[in-house]
Amino acid sequence: MGSQPSRRQFLQAGLALPAAGVASAGLDRAPVPPAPVPPAEYRTLGKTGLRVTGVGYGIGFVPIPEVVARALDMGINYYDTSRDYGDSEKIFSGVIRGRQRDRIVIATKSPSRRKADILKDLDTSLAALGTDYVDIWHLHARDTPASIPDEAVEAMLECKRSGKARFVGFSCHDPNQMVDFVLETKAFDVVQTTYSFPIGGRFRDRAIERLAGAGVGIIAMKVVVALTGLNLSSLDNEPPRKGDGPLAGIKWVLSNPAVGTTVPHMKTIPELEMNFRAMSEPYTAADEKLLYVLNERIRPDYCRMCYECTGKCPQGLPVTDMLRYLAYHDFCGNYHQARMQFALLPPDIRSVRCGDCARCVIECPNGVQVRDRLVRAQGLLA
Ligand code: SF4
Ligand code: SF4
Repeated sequence: MGSQPSRRQFLQAGLALPAAGVASAGLDRAPVPPAPVPPAEYRTLGKTGLRVTGVGYGIGFVPIPEVVARALDMGINYYDTSRDYGDSEKIFSGVIRGRQRDRIVIATKSPSRRKADILKDLDTSLAALGTDYVDIWHLHARDTPASIPDEAVEAMLECKRSGKARFVGFSCHDPNQMVDFVLETKAFDVVQTTYSFPIGGRFRDRAIERLAGAGVGIIAMKVVVALTGLNLSSLDNEPPRKGDGPLAGIKWVLSNPAVGTTVPHMKTIPELEMNFRAMSEPYTAADEKLLYVLNERIRPDYCRMCYECTGKCPQGLPVTDMLRYLAYHDFCGNYHQARMQFALLPPDIRSVRCGDCARCVIECPNGVQVRDRLVRAQGLLA
């Protein structure tokens, strides 16, 4: 990684850009000045030493090139994609073509478990991204140590030795289940984990603290899921603006110094510009209040991924995973991802209908209406 541009350089780059929504018509009208871009904040990503912006970018399945380009121009330097996200890597490569490679931290992921497949996936990703190295090479969605067999660890270390990957890690939904494994193997430089106001705190803080204490870089994902798109008009006399929930949510995540960066997916320039402010604005009492209210509103519907119900369904349903798939649709608007993940469940699990159960044995300690949510998931995704 070359030297990072200073805040000032990025600030100047951002200010030089046309702002979103600038009026284009009307020769006699004075041009609207570009929206000022607040300074980006850089953090060190654990022992990698990489200096990354606190707000990164989750490229996702269908990146919008103009929004990604604007993020690059504003100074966001951390971009997360995956082999699993359709044409995501390829679309992203089109946006970064011609830009200075060493100013962009690229993370992508392999879905594979076998050594040969992981090595091949990396070459495929490099070709799709149009680069000869990635900064972070992850194993995708590993929620148990068994999902990272020895040969997968060997493959990741070989990717690093070859210089095609500068650092290695994995993504997971519950760091509690992975922290001992990471500390014992000492193979991984970073961990990308689900972490947000609704599912952080007592659910994940201790694990994150242990990982960060060992120098493992922490990348927080799903930081604004469940905080977006809610109707807040009845909240009080001065309802928050659209985007206040995600902004407060990212500020909450960044208030934990153990977090290196965050990877919210952003679909519009106003959303990007709103989230960007999380790096320069303090987390306030008003943010806290808003997050508490939002958290209560989503309580019956949003699984906190605490995994306390694991193994309790007599029909063997992986309740946490199924509720997460439903959340991809209900909270992220991504029906494709929800359906695709559901389709990967074994046929005997997909064929269960919770509506046939007289009573659900699972009583969620976090208030999730498990049976209702699963009935919805099965109706929508099966
Ligand atoms: S349904 Fe409830 S108990 Fe089960 S993982 Fe989600 S929050 Fe935890
Ligand atoms: S209703 Fe509850 S107990 Fe019955 S199949 Fe669904 S998750 Fe299992």
